[in-house]
Amino acid sequence: MEIDKNIIKLMLPLPFRLDYINCYLLRGKEGWDIIDSGLNYPPALAAWEKFFKLYNIRYTDINNIYLTHYHPDHYGTAGWLQALTGASVHIHRAENAQVEQLWKKGRLNFPLVGDMFNEHGMPATLTTEVVDNLSEILANVQPHPILSFLDGGEEIEIGLRLFKILHTPGHSDGHLCFFCEAEGLLISGDHILPHITSNIGLWPTSHSNPLEHYLTSLEMTGCLEVKKVLPGHGNVFNDCAGRVDQLIRHHRQRLVSIADMAANGSTAHKICELLFGEDLKLHELRFAMAETLAHLAYLESRGKVISKREGEVIIYRKV
Ligand SMILES: [Zn+2]
Repeated sequence: MEIDKNIIKLMLPLPFRLDYINCYLLRGKEGWDIIDSGLNYPPALAAWEKFFKLYNIRYTDINNIYLTHYHPDHYGTAGWLQALTGASVHIHRAENAQVEQLWKKGRLNFPLVGDMFNEHGMPATLTTEVVDNLSEILANVQPHPILSFLDGGEEIEIGLRLFKILHTPGHSDGHLCFFCEAEGLLISGDHILPHITSNIGLWPTSHSNPLEHYLTSLEMTGCLEVKKVLPGHGNVFNDCAGRVDQLIRHHRQRLVSIADMAANGSTAHKICELLFGEDLKLHELRFAMAETLAHLAYLESRGKVISKREGEVIIYRKV
């Protein structure tokens, strides 16, 4: 799908309830740049090959691949694409730690997710299933690309346009958005999505207060003069500031509900069940639990709840 004659949106399939990820291809003077790569599994690779044929693009026409963040649906195919095209792959420096610890040493470190969920009240049988399910993703993030690092603040020509690289931590510690100020064009990755709220999760390897980072990043992007947002999932949309307001409101309301759920003392897992129900697929449960923990960490940092180990588990109580 053409956004304009120099930007193409390519929707790559995903084997999840969230069934597509958007990659963007920007035509330059000589060749193309890509933003985000898809999950490495056969239907996505077939979609890339079909796309290259359709637009008559040679592999060597690809100059740079920029990744908004390290999550499998954005990072997964970057190594395959790099091997094919010889393109440089760029990501925020902070994402390298996640790539190293999760995608390269996942079998060592995924059990830490299980331990964390356990001490927050999830039964051990369930955490084992969650960790096993998480391990399945390792096949979808290989081969690994050689990475070049961005810090945020750079101005880079991507395609024919000049983009400012914005560091927007929250959804991941090193999340990047790409902003073309001259045209008010924001390529937003998973920082701002039109139809769903991005997962903001606390993980053993993440920053200890990701929701605080996220709300700060939203305040920043809400002030930009944006005319068009090209998101990582869903349709292109225009009202960036309006969507930012909705997202901030959503999290503020959720913080109030979660604090109330902790009125008489509760584990994070109990609160997670109350919030998201019990009928979740394993990967959805993983995100739901990490999201609940991120909100509780924010509430605790603001003195609204207090956590205390009681026996085997950690109990949160509204202050
Ligand atoms: Zn993501």
